[in-house]
Amino acid sequence: MEINTLRNREFIVAILKKIQEKIKKINYSPKIMEVCGTHTMTIHKFGLRRLLKDSGVEMLSGPGCPVCVTPNEIIEAAIDLLSNHENLILATFGDMTRVPTRKGSLMTSTPAKGSFKKIIYSPEECLLLAKENENKEVVFFGVGFETTIPSIAFTVKKAYEEKISNFSLLSALWLIPPPLKSIVESKDINIHGFLYPGHVSTIIGKIPYEFIAKDYKIPGTITGFEPGDILLGINDILDQILEDKPSVTIQYKRVVKEEGNPKARSLMYEVFEEKDANWRGLGLIPKSGLKLKEKFSQFDAEKKFGFKIKAQSKDLKGCRCGDVLKGLISPLECPLFRKACYPESPKGPCMVSFEGACLAYYKYGY
Ligand code: SF4
Repeated sequence: MEINTLRNREFIVAILKKIQEKIKKINYSPKIMEVCGTHTMTIHKFGLRRLLKDSGVEMLSGPGCPVCVTPNEIIEAAIDLLSNHENLILATFGDMTRVPTRKGSLMTSTPAKGSFKKIIYSPEECLLLAKENENKEVVFFGVGFETTIPSIAFTVKKAYEEKISNFSLLSALWLIPPPLKSIVESKDINIHGFLYPGHVSTIIGKIPYEFIAKDYKIPGTITGFEPGDILLGINDILDQILEDKPSVTIQYKRVVKEEGNPKARSLMYEVFEEKDANWRGLGLIPKSGLKLKEKFSQFDAEKKFGFKIKAQSKDLKGCRCGDVLKGLISPLECPLFRKACYPESPKGPCMVSFEGACLAYYKYGY
């Protein structure tokens, strides 16, 4: 379908009408989780949350922002590296530098002598930095989901092949399907459907979500980022509810293939292996993170600098990011929202990240 159609007012109104008719037949207000932070932004930017609520669909934001789900202990480890090691370049993506912790943020921390932080746009930039600064250690604080991980794997592999010894990785790499299992298994919330992330699905395809339809009978669809994509996705989920046939469909066929991108996955698993990982708000989830394989362990920043990250750090006092990420509360229910927490003085990552739910509510209203 044409992008212009997916943004066309008449088209949007027509699908909303279909949704309203289906809700009448369903006879309750389904709760649908948008897993991806970019979906959250589209839903707010185009006023869909309110339109859907008025049509009888409750949208919940999920754990689909990698900056938001990275717990403070990893960010604090990055701050320690920058503050305590001389001649070290801490390279990371922009949003990560602004996340507040008990130790401040990477932005506010004072680097040790000869050290500095560097905002990068692509992991490969770190290798250039390492070559240009042979007297310094370059640590890449790499954060991301399956969308970003292949490019990080590529960078590590290249460092290995080119024998770059002053480069290492502090990793916060997350896999999307395991936290969804954790959310549906928790008794906290009753979800009737999932909008699965378009970007992540270009890599993993649809099969990793199928257990949700098969074992938990929850419908879902992989969808794109135009307002029409979101509504077509919801319409599809409502069809699955009405027909009592939960499955995983692909609405975003112009980009996502059923099998995803096997080449990118093979690169990921050539360099990394799964590990149990601690998520902000969701806690320890089996096989939900990635660590470097033994062959590439020389690039593991924890090993190189002799420290071990322990799951111990908490959110700043009063911040409810953990509950926002689980879909338990909306940002409006956080007592700090618009009272003590603003984009320019955030109290948690959900107000920092471009994909954060609190920032979406703040920026576009609700
Ligand atoms: Fe945390 Fe601020 Fe969001 Fe509250 S509004 S959950 S303090 S980021």
